[in-house]
Amino acid sequence: MSKGVLLSLVVPSHNEELNVPILYSEICKVLEEINVTYEIIFVDDGSTDNTIETVKKIQKKDSGVRLISFSKNFGKEMATTAGLHFATGEIIMMIDADGQHPPQLIPKFIDEWRKGNKIVIGLRDSNKGEGFIKRYGSRIFYRIFNRLSGFKLEPGSTDFRLIDKSVQKEFNKLTEHNRITRGLIDWLGFSKSYIHFNARERQSGQASYSTKKLLKLAFNSFYSLSFAPLYFFGYVGALITALSLLVGIFVLVEQYMLSDPLNLNMTGSASLGILIVFLIGIVLASEGIMSVYISKIYSEVNGKPLYVVDPSNSNIDA
Ligand code: UDP
Ligand code: MG
Repeated sequence: MSKGVLLSLVVPSHNEELNVPILYSEICKVLEEINVTYEIIFVDDGSTDNTIETVKKIQKKDSGVRLISFSKNFGKEMATTAGLHFATGEIIMMIDADGQHPPQLIPKFIDEWRKGNKIVIGLRDSNKGEGFIKRYGSRIFYRIFNRLSGFKLEPGSTDFRLIDKSVQKEFNKLTEHNRITRGLIDWLGFSKSYIHFNARERQSGQASYSTKKLLKLAFNSFYSLSFAPLYFFGYVGALITALSLLVGIFVLVEQYMLSDPLNLNMTGSASLGILIVFLIGIVLASEGIMSVYISKIYSEVNGKPLYVVDPSNSNIDA
């Protein structure tokens, strides 16, 4: 089944033993109706429950089901990355294991692809059971991110998305460790189309993303896709230097050259204050310049593999 398949489904799975069989049967039902050749790649991200055994059981009945098993938990981004590395289909779709991404929409995604779109992105309209912080936090995140990063992330865009093989090929060339899969796909460019969907509630189990983890994800998006935070203090420094220089020149002229016509009576310590602020500005600005170099190093340095596959539990040609 691995050669000549049209659709590869990548399912990152962390402790999803109860959800995997439900998702699998939903997917089968949908794919039967549209009659496409497929492979379903479950990426077990170091689950501590019986996710591996559950997938293996399904594999016995369906040779289109593949399993990549990580040696430990590497996080969803690495799990989706691994799935994309090994997918062999003409089109690849990522879908969450917990049922929050409705498989019933898969035919719609494929239709959009057939119209010539290389990337089809699921936009989440609402997520029942999602807290206030998560909902408004993500809105604020998108607004700030789009302003600072120089490229546009569509609000509500999710990992529930389809990419063409040509996009996968480019994605697989990316080597950064600090990665947000959907952000990298957005960064690649290509023609995009969007499909709105209502996120259903998780079938069972707990979302592995706590508010703390989500905040980390948001910050990670900034670090990995934009150097804005690194440059920020450089800009602040340059601004402080420029302003204090102007104030310094004003004081010099007003106080010492024209003998204080405005009667400001500047004390020595005030002048000293201006000098100190000026110097702090220079320090910050030079840190900004250093940051430019650090960002270049950051872009280049790569050591560790992105993830480690446990071959004894996987059936892909790793
Ligand atoms: N997931 C994963 N590794 C992790 C955390 C989550 O592979 O460390 C998977 C999880 O099994 C699910 C998907 O990523 O299929 C989304 O995770 P979750 O439902 O916890 O997060 P949500 O995005 O719904 O808040
Ligand atoms: Mg979920």
